[in-house]
Amino acid sequence: MSPPTADPTVLARDLLRCRSVTPAEGGALGLLERVLKGTGFEVHRVTFAEPGTAPVENLYARIGSDKPHLCFAGHTDVVPPGDEATWTHPPFAGEIADGTLYGRGAVDMKGAVACMVAASLDHLAARGGKPKGSISFLITGDEEGIAVNGTIKLLKWAAERGERFDHCILGEPSNAAAIGDTIKVGRRGSLNGTLVITGKQGHVAYPQLADNPVRGLVTLMSALMAAPLDHGSAHFDASNLEFTSIDIGNTVVNLIPGEARARFNIRFNDCHSHTSLKTLIERQTADAARERVKWRIDWEPSNADWFFTGPGPFVDLVVAAIKEVTGAEPKLSTTGGTSDARFIKDYCPVLEFGLVGQTMHQVDERTAVADLAKLTGVYRTILERYFG
Ligand SMILES: [Zn+2]
Repeated sequence: MSPPTADPTVLARDLLRCRSVTPAEGGALGLLERVLKGTGFEVHRVTFAEPGTAPVENLYARIGSDKPHLCFAGHTDVVPPGDEATWTHPPFAGEIADGTLYGRGAVDMKGAVACMVAASLDHLAARGGKPKGSISFLITGDEEGIAVNGTIKLLKWAAERGERFDHCILGEPSNAAAIGDTIKVGRRGSLNGTLVITGKQGHVAYPQLADNPVRGLVTLMSALMAAPLDHGSAHFDASNLEFTSIDIGNTVVNLIPGEARARFNIRFNDCHSHTSLKTLIERQTADAARERVKWRIDWEPSNADWFFTGPGPFVDLVVAAIKEVTGAEPKLSTTGGTSDARFIKDYCPVLEFGLVGQTMHQVDERTAVADLAKLTGVYRTILERYFG
């Protein structure tokens, strides 16, 4: 009997039929467990929890015990579908129409998970069921949520078991318009803060008896928006600070408020760490405030650092595989929001390559069936070259 193979479209369709809106498992990990166990993977289902959060199920599977060890990472949880009546095809039906597979998670990222599994099964089948090194799957159910009971804990759990990864491919939808156009080799970090200005409350007709914090807020906001954080780096665009909300909460017209706040988010590149960035922002604020404005910044805890996987044999191998299968020369990009690669980078070099992201998180999220075949081909070629 020859080892089993998998059709990525059938597997993607079956995954889409699982209602795995974060934090629900919805049957998606159970499905992967059955498929991977049937091929000889050792499969672990691990649930993580902590006070104040919903427990979340995760999956780790590995075949082989030798080096090199290539890890495929991803998530089976999805964002909610919104009003299901607005979908042309129901979000959890996995319907295929005119060569397109519809459903929540089609591109972000059950489709890519199906392609990784199908490519691995093909690769193993061609080698009589045994890999030359090790292949593993690190699949979480907590990526779209607060991401505290997912990849970050699963990596730690795996490390404590003695798992060592040489390289990792994360299947986020990296491509902009067509399979092969973009690999994400880095992402910026993210940091949130609130600028708080303290004044003195008073009657609006007697400003000399009060101290309006709005003046100070405007001054400091202007300064923080004007001063660049950097001018970009070799691999990243310039870091950016955006104010997202101004909060005074004054419900009357005759009162000078006692306090004014403004929330902001910073997307930062490899010129900074969380600590150096906080120091820089606080210095810019102090310079603008001088002795006139009473201010403080409340920083929110953040686990979103930047990551960057530099040029080298691993990136070259992935680029070559993409070129071979798609004919495209992929762009190496560091744009976009954060991903679980920010956690994986602490364990091994990681890059992101998946489906086309255009419809992610949208109504009628979908992928061309042909893209699933193409992506599976790319992953299979990566495996051949990696273990070649
Ligand atoms: Zn995703």
